[in-house]
Amino acid sequence: MQYKTAIGIRRAIEAKEITAIEVLEHYLEVIKNKDNEIGAFLEVFENEAREQANKIDNMVATGQSLPRMAGVPIAIKDNMLYQGKVASAGSKMLEKYVATYDSTVVDRLKKAGAVIIGRTNMDEFAMGSSTETSFWQKTKNPVDVTKTPGGSSGGSAAAVAAGMVPVSLGSDTGGSIRQPAALCGVVGMKPSYGRVSRYGLIALGSSLDQIGPFATTPQDAALVLEVIEGLDVHDATSVELTETTASELIEENFNGMKFGVPKEYFVDEMDSEVKKVIEEAINQIKENGGTIKEVSLPLTEYALSAYYIIQPAEASSNLGRFDGMRYGTRALSDNLKESYLMARGEGFGNEVKRRIMMGAYVLSAGYYDAYYKKALQIRQMIANDFKRVFEEVDVIISPTSPCVAWGLGDKFDDPIAMYLADIFTVSANIAGIPGISVPCGTVHGLPVGLQFLAGAFKDGKILRVAAAFEQLKVNNS
Ligand code: GLN
Repeated sequence: MQYKTAIGIRRAIEAKEITAIEVLEHYLEVIKNKDNEIGAFLEVFENEAREQANKIDNMVATGQSLPRMAGVPIAIKDNMLYQGKVASAGSKMLEKYVATYDSTVVDRLKKAGAVIIGRTNMDEFAMGSSTETSFWQKTKNPVDVTKTPGGSSGGSAAAVAAGMVPVSLGSDTGGSIRQPAALCGVVGMKPSYGRVSRYGLIALGSSLDQIGPFATTPQDAALVLEVIEGLDVHDATSVELTETTASELIEENFNGMKFGVPKEYFVDEMDSEVKKVIEEAINQIKENGGTIKEVSLPLTEYALSAYYIIQPAEASSNLGRFDGMRYGTRALSDNLKESYLMARGEGFGNEVKRRIMMGAYVLSAGYYDAYYKKALQIRQMIANDFKRVFEEVDVIISPTSPCVAWGLGDKFDDPIAMYLADIFTVSANIAGIPGISVPCGTVHGLPVGLQFLAGAFKDGKILRVAAAFEQLKVNNS
């Protein structure tokens, strides 16, 4: 099929060059051919997807005007509720949980005419950076199937990278959209906190979670964001936007843009070849009209520690409801305490248990002040640092990940090594600001991602620079 982007597909359907059902059948075929090996999907919604595609074709046949994503297939992460479908968050605990309502993102996708093609694999409850903590299966990186796709939204990233779907949704609490996008060589964006409703998203860290798109172009990411963003009465943290995304309005140049390169983001632990690719990208931006300035975010070294206190604290509280009584698979026992213990003991994997223990510990009397309260203070200071830097520059440039995709299993038994993979991404969640990762080169054939960050609700700025950066690559090829 010649139409590869969401925007191209919609345009072709509107122009009657192709039907929505032909588009869908193409992607179903690719999934059939490739997903046995990749393992991106936990379930493909063939019947419902065909119904949705047929509906669009009827609209075309009867001359109705088409909504923004008419006929565009999209995959959703397994932690987003789709009424009537299982949403397991990659966990055995929710093996039999069938969503009783649509999450706001699913509702908005449906209204925009998108064709929801399936749900994708993820780390259990979105805890992880490799998608290996999923109870269900391992997902492989389509660029090299011996490598991890990253995580926790590894299924959604791999689905786009393998051409099994043009766009997908992930959730990002500490980097779970941007990092797998970087490792799989696609575009992935975490919007500003409050831009996209979290209603119907199975929570990990409620003050950090945001839903966002994976795509092959920044324009497609902008299209998906435009459909899902904005105020929602069901999520009190969602915000009425004064400036919405519109993919058509994206300028593809760096004119007048000031970029900050934080010196703390070029740490020694970083792979030296990744560093070289990032430095080349920065040079290219400079040669094409961007002003580059060194900036300082002195608290960067504490971001990861603060994140791994705040996030487990929130997770331990959010996961309290999965006890086999309120939610989750009930353990059969005639003793209440034993039933709770069995349900949680058997339903959760090791990483989830580790986080619940860490979270309960830092919130407990006597430790709250030493850990949780301190982490919140650091959080505020990190947010202030970003505010200060964004008074001087429009956009911050950094690597997305300190390394390229590693071998499956390599970091699985070393949680600290796994946590370090998030070193460049967690700060954006801590500060609530938007971030996008775009492919910027390769090291030994594996993709490297470049991250752009901007001030809160300046999502349009990073989409613009991402589009301008992609344009450079097109011009140079
Ligand atoms: N890898 C990070 C973690 O394990 C980020 C997860 C996420 O963004 N959902 O917490």
